[in-house]
Amino acid sequence: MKQYKGIVNLPKEYKQVWEMTKKSYMISKKHNENRSFTTNIENTPITIIIDQKPDLNAGKGQWDGPYAGQWDNEKYEITIFPATMMRGDWGNDEGYKLECEMQELKLTLHHELRHAMQTLLNRNIHKTKGYDQYGYSKKSKVWKLKHSLRDIEFHPKLGDEITRYIELAALRKKIANRIPIISAFINHSDFFKDLKDSFPVKWKEAVKKFIINIPKEYEYENYTATKIL
Ligand SMILES: [Zn+2]
Repeated sequence: MKQYKGIVNLPKEYKQVWEMTKKSYMISKKHNENRSFTTNIENTPITIIIDQKPDLNAGKGQWDGPYAGQWDNEKYEITIFPATMMRGDWGNDEGYKLECEMQELKLTLHHELRHAMQTLLNRNIHKTKGYDQYGYSKKSKVWKLKHSLRDIEFHPKLGDEITRYIELAALRKKIANRIPIISAFINHSDFFKDLKDSFPVKWKEAVKKFIINIPKEYEYENYTATKIL
């Protein structure tokens, strides 16, 4: 799948980690208490904590979905916790709700695993002039950049978008035998919109990397970056 692995950085142990996370989440939910387990990723022990207590203050307003995750690169820990204010519009069907929850949980885990891989492989940190990787301005030392624009988020977020596109394309292909138009997807993505507005050079890089990493069967008319850039 082209350069897929090198950019999105999901560990090869991903499937196993997801199974354990799912199990742990279910137990945690049932007993309404936290659960954790340790797993090996790239031969390094990593702890995954499923927290049932929403943390509404940490990084207020920064969450992109109903779950929030955190990668602690000193303790080698991933914590996933609910950001409850964003849930609630999934209707009353318990089975459907659970499916939505699982999907969101999976995407959050994907994202945090990508951060873990950045640390473990010590790479993929993009560099924006004047800012450190966490988005602090080097001059003023005040919080400057929006979450999605921080260098540390560049490859993990790009990986999230690639996953989102592939899942959408797979679903559409299955139900309607059609695939989405890549340029429309990119133009509607908040991540790409933010990049385009603030850092056009990074946006170009993201578009190129995105297109290179879409598997052939999900490419709409052999799409190339030149059609968008
Ligand atoms: Zn992130």
